[in-house]
Amino acid sequence: MSNKSKLQPSIDLNADGKQFGYLDTPYSRNDSAWGALRIPVSVAKNGDGPTLLITGGNHGDEYEGPIAAMKLMRSIDPARMTGRVIAIPFLNYPAVRAGTRVSPIDDVNMNRAFPGDADGTISYQISNFVNDVLIPQCDAVMDIHSGGKTLMFEAFAAIHHLDDPDQFRRCKEAMLAFGAPISLVLVELDSRGMLDTGVEDAGKIFLSTELGGGGTALPDNVRIAEEGLQRLLAHLGILQNSGDLPPPPDTRFMDTVGDGCFTMSNDEGMFEMLVNLGDMVREGQPLAQVHSLQHPEREPTVYCAGRDGLLIGRHHPGLIQQGDFLSLIAYDVE
Ligand code: ZN
Repeated sequence: MSNKSKLQPSIDLNADGKQFGYLDTPYSRNDSAWGALRIPVSVAKNGDGPTLLITGGNHGDEYEGPIAAMKLMRSIDPARMTGRVIAIPFLNYPAVRAGTRVSPIDDVNMNRAFPGDADGTISYQISNFVNDVLIPQCDAVMDIHSGGKTLMFEAFAAIHHLDDPDQFRRCKEAMLAFGAPISLVLVELDSRGMLDTGVEDAGKIFLSTELGGGGTALPDNVRIAEEGLQRLLAHLGILQNSGDLPPPPDTRFMDTVGDGCFTMSNDEGMFEMLVNLGDMVREGQPLAQVHSLQHPEREPTVYCAGRDGLLIGRHHPGLIQQGDFLSLIAYDVE
């Protein structure tokens, strides 16, 4: 284990059995001079086998991942396992406690802070520990996201286009095993600094999700995360499938590469969606309109679909600003 990282696990991540502990790092501040930050971590292990790292709360206002990770670790029985699961349900712990996307301590987006910095601010210390200490020990990483307060998605699991065809195949097989209603090859608008990129660059399996959003957790989406984790653990050979896992539902394999998938707002105003999330749309079909708050006498600006496909993501709040993500269309692939 790297001794450069400031984060110190309070438990032995290599010991057999199940343990709940903390990643401790000094956090000296005005209200606690000799204080520390204690980030919950848990591990379940039985002998030699693959290691899966599960992270939730990478963004502090996304709830399905933390809930599913907590429930999994409370219920998992190491006697039924071969290998190891490490779970950090609240990766950006200060942000989770604040209910915000980015950390209130240093205003850093955890998913733009990789590979991290052992001597940086708290967010960079956390990403450094994951990148330098945990990823090298892992065979696969599952980072569960949802839309947070400002986005809403049709629930999907996601991988990325990768240069290595064998790594892409392994990621795709893991995604199909997870069995979300939609399995998507996602194009990232800003991939530098993401946990995803760190894991993929290390040649490991990386799987993410976007499950709902709006700053809350819906029952159907929590269930997708919980059942998906069970199936992923069985797929990786970590959890013995004793026959009580529900089979994966039919998943719809989709892509987002190419023109016309992403739409951004060039207006500030009141946001009105004209189609529902999950609807099939046609190129040129009006998707949404933005009403001016300064000139209510003016007709709204209409945003149209850039291509045929399924409306899989949308801006969530009732107000929108210039530069905001407005919508994402995905299309079916064989
Ligand atoms: Zn997120």
